[in-house]
Amino acid sequence: MPDFHNELIPYLKKYFGFDRFRQQQEAIITAVLNKDDCLVIMPTGGGKSICFQLPALLFKGTTLVISPLIALMKDQVDGLNANGIPAAFFNSSQSAQEQQAILDSTHKGELKLLYVAPESLQGLSPILYEEYVSCVAVDEAHCISSWGHDFRPSYQQLGFLKASLPQTPIIALTATADKATRQDILAQLQIPEAKQFLASFDRKNISLEVRAAHDRVTQILQFIEQRPNESGIIYCLSRKSTETLVEKIRNSGFKVAAYHAGLDFDSRNKVQEDFIFDKTQIVCATIAFGIGIDKSNVRWVIHYNMPKNIEGYYQEIGRSGRDGLAAHALLFHSYADVIQLQRFASGATNEEVQLAKLERMKQFSEASSCRRKILLSYFGEYLQADCGNCDVCKNPPQFFDGTVIAQKILSTIARLKESEATGTVIDVLRGAQNTNILDKNYQQIKTYGIGKDISWNHWQHYAIQLINQGLCEIAFHKNNVLRLTDLAKAVLFNNTKVQLSQPLSKEEQMAVRKES
Ligand code: ADP
Ligand code: ZN
Repeated sequence: MPDFHNELIPYLKKYFGFDRFRQQQEAIITAVLNKDDCLVIMPTGGGKSICFQLPALLFKGTTLVISPLIALMKDQVDGLNANGIPAAFFNSSQSAQEQQAILDSTHKGELKLLYVAPESLQGLSPILYEEYVSCVAVDEAHCISSWGHDFRPSYQQLGFLKASLPQTPIIALTATADKATRQDILAQLQIPEAKQFLASFDRKNISLEVRAAHDRVTQILQFIEQRPNESGIIYCLSRKSTETLVEKIRNSGFKVAAYHAGLDFDSRNKVQEDFIFDKTQIVCATIAFGIGIDKSNVRWVIHYNMPKNIEGYYQEIGRSGRDGLAAHALLFHSYADVIQLQRFASGATNEEVQLAKLERMKQFSEASSCRRKILLSYFGEYLQADCGNCDVCKNPPQFFDGTVIAQKILSTIARLKESEATGTVIDVLRGAQNTNILDKNYQQIKTYGIGKDISWNHWQHYAIQLINQGLCEIAFHKNNVLRLTDLAKAVLFNNTKVQLSQPLSKEEQMAVRKES
């Protein structure tokens, strides 16, 4: 392979103002210049753009950049032009004359880079010949895959590019791709032999924590009060929760704003700007808040609700700690959220995929081993050692013989004829006297009140573990009642042992929070 090093550095300096390459950039650029097809997986902000922009300068002809984000194209092109790089974009917002002018300058070989939305590719047919096109860059390449989190049907027609431009290198780039998506990208772009470049996804400075979603608002207020001067983002599932949260947080004296689809364009922009310029400290958001905003000092991200998949979660927590300083990601885990997300997914065209991804997200939330290992393994990266910077590493669960506790819960479920959800099961164990219990005469049940010595939260902690261990399950389509599985019978009738982890005491929980 020819060594381009001495040739590349002056270009890097002259056109981009950098003295040296970041990890892998040079290897990628060299491969592209050798006309190899490439797949580049690099986190957001990693520096993907120059991997195709710099080769474009050295090639004869024009590099086509397929990008889904029409809104960002103009900015990207303006930035290139400002650096003295002849570039343009081609999309449906332009007049026929404008489009013709772009085709003409491509024919003359005047453009180094041409950004195009996949929907507009057809309009480029007069220039789709190898004498004009030096390279094709497919940005946000995960959009091609229905297994990806941001599927765009218009990306699926890109397979023709390799067929019509067989000698032209294709470089596909994305920040989020698990193994399945990666395979799909290669298959659909018809570049099975592409060289793959995988940058590390590990963001060591972001500490990871998951808590049960019990009394979330109080927990969030405490969290913020411990960090009175730090910027953060809270992601919620519904517009209503963003608004409720904003009100509560504002009442505690913080500068906070909501960001959701119900706001018009200008209001959303204002929220973003105020956040970037530190006029707003906290944003409670439902939708893609943070895409394209470059704020390096976001110190924490809270997920009020569980995200629907790991890619989304990872991208959202990745908006914190971009300056490399310590940041904190806190996720609240609730079964109610899981159920709601399952409902959202059901009936979707790719229901199976969505449910499988949700399951992975749930496994991450319920993990009793290093969370970062689980997270990174999703992206095909395997950590040797535990990270030391997640809640599980900091407080490894202590296990004890929980057989009797498990039997109490399971036999209560059985005596309730598998017709009640977790809350009522716990109320029965604790001998609650509320109207629900009394109306249904549950104080007659044999296990009523046998668990008074254990707090409600601790019972919940144990019940969740039984669900995770497959001893009982939530009937999602039947009012979330708890049902026994075959494994439960072994525990109830054969005295099969159950290991449970110790819940943290209140004091321990506070200590962990202060420390992290
Ligand atoms: P991505 O597309 O991967 O999200 P970008 O290509 O937009 O990332 O680059 C992210 C930031 O890193 C940009 O501000 C870019 O100027 C900067 N950058 C890229 N390469 C280098 C480099 N070799 N040295 C210093 N900064 C770089
Ligand atoms: Zn860890």
